[in-house]
Amino acid sequence: MTNHVKKGYARPLDITHGRVDMSHGGGGRAMVQLITDLFARHLSNEYLAQGNDGTCLPLGKGRLVLSTDSHVVSPLFFPGGDIGGLSVHGTVNDVAVMGATPLYLTAGFILEEGFPLADLARIVESMAKAANDAGVKLVAGDTKVVEQGKGDGVFITTTGVGFLPDGVHLSGDLARPGDLLLVSGSVGDHGVAIMSKRENLSFDAPILSDTAALHGLTAAMMASGATIKVMRDPTRGGLAATLNEIAHQSGVGIHLEEAAIPVKPEVEAACELLGLDPLNIANEGKLIAVCAAEDADRLLAVMRAHPLGRDAAVIGRVLEDANAFVQMKTRFGGRRMVDWLSGEQLPRIC
Ligand code: MG
Repeated sequence: MTNHVKKGYARPLDITHGRVDMSHGGGGRAMVQLITDLFARHLSNEYLAQGNDGTCLPLGKGRLVLSTDSHVVSPLFFPGGDIGGLSVHGTVNDVAVMGATPLYLTAGFILEEGFPLADLARIVESMAKAANDAGVKLVAGDTKVVEQGKGDGVFITTTGVGFLPDGVHLSGDLARPGDLLLVSGSVGDHGVAIMSKRENLSFDAPILSDTAALHGLTAAMMASGATIKVMRDPTRGGLAATLNEIAHQSGVGIHLEEAAIPVKPEVEAACELLGLDPLNIANEGKLIAVCAAEDADRLLAVMRAHPLGRDAAVIGRVLEDANAFVQMKTRFGGRRMVDWLSGEQLPRIC
């Protein structure tokens, strides 16, 4: 996304009533106008304003962390958020759970011909707010338009760049028997919020997506001095998929205590109604951490002191298991396997 302000283009963009048309992706004046009047208006900064084919960024000592994520969530606007904010949070969180400080983002937009410009402006404003709140700058971008029927409104791909100081190393293969497992709050909120909007379900207590940037929480956790081995955000596939990934990467077993896992009563009720398991459902503002047992109390206190970690809990432990099974002691005292789902439970959740 370059930021050339070219003189003499046709008429101002009608953001209130206008729609995306093929010319907005054509590389001509209409495209420059869309970029200038809509994207740059909300997202501009000194890097984006360089206006070149690539952006030059300062580089300090340490290492870069990069992560990329495409967002195809349906519906685009859902209880508690929209695709714009989500596309920032998702990538910021993937960088933050590496222990890094997220700094920069790029964004690629695929727009469908006919999409209302007013909705696009709402999405871009939401991205700008999310980026601002997360302390990251959007430094490069791209817009393409596809014909009506060939897209679904808006798809957004974001790439995040973060800074990781030398000596910090978190990784999914570092969990060891004896370590404890923590979660930052209630699970299942995002997936159930999307699902209830799609199915037109309403509950006494509205279920909102937990979409949020976790950079502040992760920074506090990293500063606590606790020995954190792994952090990860349990998005698609939920807690079950994330813990199975870690168990396999580290070659260990994980034992969960169902009674310790925070699930909001309204999310639990919705899951029962929809036949879903909260452990398989995507979260967009939660993280899990594996830490040395002796540091768990200190880490938990730091997490609970942060607004996004108020309901943090120790939910399980790592043990030796050549099969790398994730198992759970149920509330009724039984034991069950917590497995990956074989297929897709909830498509287009993020
Ligand atoms: Mg992730």
